[in-house]
Amino acid sequence: MTAAVAMDSTERTICLDLGGTKIASRLVDGYSLDASHPRVAPVAPVARAARLPMEAGANKTTEDVGTTSTTSTTSTTPTPTTYDGLIATLRDICARQYASLPDTPRSSIAIAIAHPGTLDSRGIWSNANMQYTWQRPFKKDLANALNSALPCRVDLALCNDGDAFALAEARLGAGIGHAAVFGITLGTGAGCGFVYQGMPMISPRGTAPEWGHLTMPRVIPFDDGGSPAPRPCYCGRIDCIEQYLSGTAIEKEAIDQGANATAQASTLLTEPAIAHRFLCRMAAALGIIVNGFGPESIVFGGGVVIPPTLLTRLRHALIDHCFGLAHQPSALHEDGTPPPLTEEQEAKLPTLHCAALGNDAVMLGAGLFAQLVQRTPSSE
Ligand SMILES: [Zn+2]
Repeated sequence: MTAAVAMDSTERTICLDLGGTKIASRLVDGYSLDASHPRVAPVAPVARAARLPMEAGANKTTEDVGTTSTTSTTSTTPTPTTYDGLIATLRDICARQYASLPDTPRSSIAIAIAHPGTLDSRGIWSNANMQYTWQRPFKKDLANALNSALPCRVDLALCNDGDAFALAEARLGAGIGHAAVFGITLGTGAGCGFVYQGMPMISPRGTAPEWGHLTMPRVIPFDDGGSPAPRPCYCGRIDCIEQYLSGTAIEKEAIDQGANATAQASTLLTEPAIAHRFLCRMAAALGIIVNGFGPESIVFGGGVVIPPTLLTRLRHALIDHCFGLAHQPSALHEDGTPPPLTEEQEAKLPTLHCAALGNDAVMLGAGLFAQLVQRTPSSE
């Protein structure tokens, strides 16, 4: 277990959120990453005798909310569509952010980049939905480009964007006060991360946890009555969750059923029939996580905004998929407020939340990763 963060609150990290359509970047200071200064109120705790102790500083109250952050504003750049173009753009963004630092020249700079997909132990990139990145030596190519462009040592930290999102929301955002937080990002794809006791849970080979590329459970009535057409996924499998629950998938299915071709997923989810199908499918897909990982809290982020009223109904729909509760009928209807949860249901179901950190979550998570990497014994 890594100790609580103690760092220079003014030290800055260049943080990037590399997405499929745009790259967001900003300078993030240590104050913004310090869990003893969360910028949002903690969620109401769920009464549970077996609650595990949180890391010091991760369960502060709104009185601790600070205002002295010197974090810069966010810049965005379209994501190039070629690998070489991407490396050059990342280099240029970092050089531009470095030039905006108030304390140059300097001996080193930390750069933290959250990206889709995974890097193996050799730094080879795979599994991103930008397929031109597959099997490319991303870590080596990026380090070479940055070292040639910046006049100081570069401490480069790379992490998956779903992991970064979950880490930031768990330590600084909607998951504060919960020991086990599962984060889900819905946008072009469906990303995820799992944070336990304030630390990201990542498999030694870097590919897990994965949620968007697990098989979508069959959901009655939408997938009933014959053999629904399988949905191939770019990863090579069929019927991945991402093909049903990402923003892209929600929009495609809605268009197939006659919706306005320009409507975005966040808008479509305000339509009762589309919302009902979404939450029935989401409840089934979350059941895998609830039963397999047992998160206290699930936080939703990404470009797809889920209306808070839909989250209330989604939690009710989870009853049908939660081990120990599924024998009870959920009484979920297409519209209307579901009945209050029983004490047992309240105790067994995770709380569901919209992201509290907005578009900053992934960049802040990348900055947290850079801190954690620098603090591991092997790098000290
Ligand atoms: Zn897939």
